[in-house]
Amino acid sequence: MTPTGRTAVFGLIGQPIAHSLSPSIWNHLFAEHQMDAVYVALPAPPDAGGAALATSIRTLGLAAVNLTIPHKTAILPYLDELSDAARRAGAVNFVRCVDGRLLGDNTDGGGFMLSLSLEHGLIVKDRRTVILGAGGAARAVAAELAYSGAAEVVLLNRTAERAHQAVVDLRAALGSAGRALAHGSLTADSYARRAAKADLVVNCTGGGARGLINGFDPTILSSDAVWSDLNYWDDRPPLLQLHRDRQLKTQDGLMMLVCQAVLAFQAVSDARPDPRQVFDALNKGWLR
Ligand code: NAP
Repeated sequence: MTPTGRTAVFGLIGQPIAHSLSPSIWNHLFAEHQMDAVYVALPAPPDAGGAALATSIRTLGLAAVNLTIPHKTAILPYLDELSDAARRAGAVNFVRCVDGRLLGDNTDGGGFMLSLSLEHGLIVKDRRTVILGAGGAARAVAAELAYSGAAEVVLLNRTAERAHQAVVDLRAALGSAGRALAHGSLTADSYARRAAKADLVVNCTGGGARGLINGFDPTILSSDAVWSDLNYWDDRPPLLQLHRDRQLKTQDGLMMLVCQAVLAFQAVSDARPDPRQVFDALNKGWLR
C-alpha cells in the first residue's frame, strides 16, 4: 500500500539500528494484513532522554514505537500506563500512543517464551534455568521464566552489583514467584556449577562476552537441555555450534525476534499472524 497523508507511522527508536530486521518484519505484517501503516528506523542517540522521546512520539503523532537500550528504561517515567509484563521486567520495548496517552509494554520476555514453546515445546514450570547477563533482555527473560513457574532462575553476570540489583528489582515486581531468582558471577566455575543441573541456559549478554563464554565447558549441559542465544545478529554466537554438534536443542534468537514483533503487532491489529510463517520468510531471505 503506498503511504499517504493518513498512513499510520510506526518505528524503531535507537542507535545503531540500520542493521535491524524489525522494519522488514513489521512492513511484511502490514502488507499481509492490508494495513495502511509503515514502519521505519528512527535513529536516536543513547543520551536522547526519555522526556524528549515521549514528547516526540506524541508530537509527531507516531502510532507506536519499539525501543532499544537505553531508551527501554529511560522512557518509563514519562509513560501513562504500563502492561503487567512491562512492570515485571521494569522496562518497555514497545510504546503505543492512543488518544495522546503513552502505553508501555514489554514483549521481549513473552516473545522469548513463545519462541521456546514453538521451537522446542519446552514447558518451563519446575525447570532449572540459567541466564548469562543481567541487562535489559536478561531481566525481561528472567521475569517471564520466574512468572511461569521455573524452579530456579539464576542470573550470572560480569558485574556482580548489576545482577544483585536485577534480582532485588525482579523479586519486588514478582512477589512469591521471585523466590526462584538467584545470581552469581559470570565465570567458568560458577557456570559449570549451575549449568550442570540446568534444563535451559539463555545467553542474554551482548557480543562482547563471546570470548568469555567460549571458554566455558561445552560438555556440561545435559543432552536434553536447551541452549538459547538471543543474539540473532551474531554470525559466531559462542558455544552454539558446539551444542548443535552435541545434538542439543538450540535457539539463535531469530524466532524470539519474530515472536516479540508478532506479540506487539497483535496489540495494534485484530490479526493473529503465525510467527512460524514470518520466521520462514525471514530465514529464506524474502524479508531481508
Ligand atoms: P544490555 O542491557 O546492555 O546488557 C548487556 C549484558 O551483556 C550485560 O549483562 C553485560 O554485563 C553483558 N556484557 C556486555 N559485554 C560483556 C563482556 N565483554 N563480558 C561479559 N559480559 C558482557 O543489553 P540487552 O538489552 O540486555 O541486550 C543484550 C543482547 O540481547 C543484545 O545483543 C541484543 O541484541 C539481544 N536481544 C535480542 C532480542 C531478540 O529478539 N532476539 C531481544 C532483546 C535483546 P555487565 O552488566 O557486566 O556490563
